[in-house]
Amino acid sequence: MAHSLHLKRLEGKVAIITGAASGIGEAAAKLFVENGAFVVVADIQEELGLKVVASIAGPDVDRAIYKKCDVTVEKQVEETVAFAIEKYGTLDIMYGNAGILGPMDSILDMDMEDGFDRTMAVNLRGPALCIKHAARAMVKRQVRGSIICTASTASVLGGMGPIAYNTSKHGLVGLVRAAASELGKHGIRVNCVSPYFVATPLAISGMSAMGINNASGIEALASSAGNLKGVALKAKHIAEAALFLASDESSVYVSGHNLVVDGGYTVVDNSITMLMQMQIK
Ligand code: NAD
Repeated sequence: MAHSLHLKRLEGKVAIITGAASGIGEAAAKLFVENGAFVVVADIQEELGLKVVASIAGPDVDRAIYKKCDVTVEKQVEETVAFAIEKYGTLDIMYGNAGILGPMDSILDMDMEDGFDRTMAVNLRGPALCIKHAARAMVKRQVRGSIICTASTASVLGGMGPIAYNTSKHGLVGLVRAAASELGKHGIRVNCVSPYFVATPLAISGMSAMGINNASGIEALASSAGNLKGVALKAKHIAEAALFLASDESSVYVSGHNLVVDGGYTVVDNSITMLMQMQIK
């Protein structure tokens, strides 16, 4: 197997991954365990979470465990951190990845409770609680831990998804930077990873209004709009970026960073060049 050729990059580390019952979190749970970590799969979807644990832990049943956790509820986040420490003895990595897209409404008819407030609760308050309780445990135990969140290309550009989603992801980068500033003195690093489109249930739910309701349809659209051609971005690629931020390979000085994984999408704009080429023709 390919991974056995490489060094295990998280040997013996203990991680919590929220939103790990599906998509990017699921891929991260699998990759972290392959790299020697013990992983708490924290999610509201119990049946899926248990399935993920069964599929990744294999014969070493202790490597991963499911914990029901709604990241919007402080007590549940606090209990999840306590659970990880009770089960595995410490906490080295918190990956606050859980997120929702929220309703696809416009600012003109935005639903403030079920749309804006709910999206902020999951996508911004959730990671804030994850950082708070992970950092409290790390500071207490003098663990030089790594905290990671999943932001999005919607953290650096407008027009990327519903307005509340777009806003929450911009806020998340602010949260990561502020937390990195405060936790640096404890040797705790805080970073986020920002994916371009990945064909997960979240992305499929967002695209279904456009009549695209399967992974290959999303990948085709993402590829035609994207900058880097000839490759489809998968959940595993985002998990690999999170693995870098979680591991000792980034431990010397990488903190407060927004690792955008978008093939250059948010830093290039080909529209003028394309217009010029059309004129020349
Ligand atoms: P997904 O729907 O496959 O997974 C999200 C998981 O979060 C689900 O298992 C869900 O049950 C869980 N979750 C939702 N609300 C929760 C809550 N209150 N408490 C705990 N868990 C909760 O989607 P995904 O694409 O893997 O999303 C993961 C992260 O990646 C999200 O933060 C999302 O915003 C971000 N992201 C995704 C894309 C993409 O194109 N898929 C792009 C950029 C950023």
